[in-house]
Amino acid sequence: MENCMFCRIVERQAPAQVVYEDESVVAFKDLHPQAPVHLLVVPRKHLESLTQAKAEDEPLIGHLFGVAARLARENKLEKGYRTLINNGPWAGQSVYHLHVHILGGRVFHWPPG
Ligand code: 5GP
Ligand code: ZN
Repeated sequence: MENCMFCRIVERQAPAQVVYEDESVVAFKDLHPQAPVHLLVVPRKHLESLTQAKAEDEPLIGHLFGVAARLARENKLEKGYRTLINNGPWAGQSVYHLHVHILGGRVFHWPPG
């Protein structure tokens, strides 16, 4: 996936402020943060979105959220934080490599826009 920005970050061919990595996922700071803490957790494996994930990917998707919770603890987001995945154009997905957003450090409203 040579034209995928997040694959390039995972392969360390493009710069990013990486805050965590292991054998299956990488987490880094969002380039255009929408909150005081705005991190992205991405699988090393290229999956376009949740829609393309298969049953065999479910442990990996669970791990994305486990890492998100760990990063929220490390960033002292005990008052609350939001984890979300935008899937497809109507949800505003702009990078077609699955990623979990972690947003924290301010109050979030519901329903989202
Ligand atoms: P989406 O809209 O697809 O759910 O979210 C994509 C996110 O990736 C956006 O919040 C955007 O700011 C972030 N982003 C896009 N390109 C880059 C990049 O090259 N580096 C980093 N660190 N974040 C990026
Ligand atoms: Zn990719």
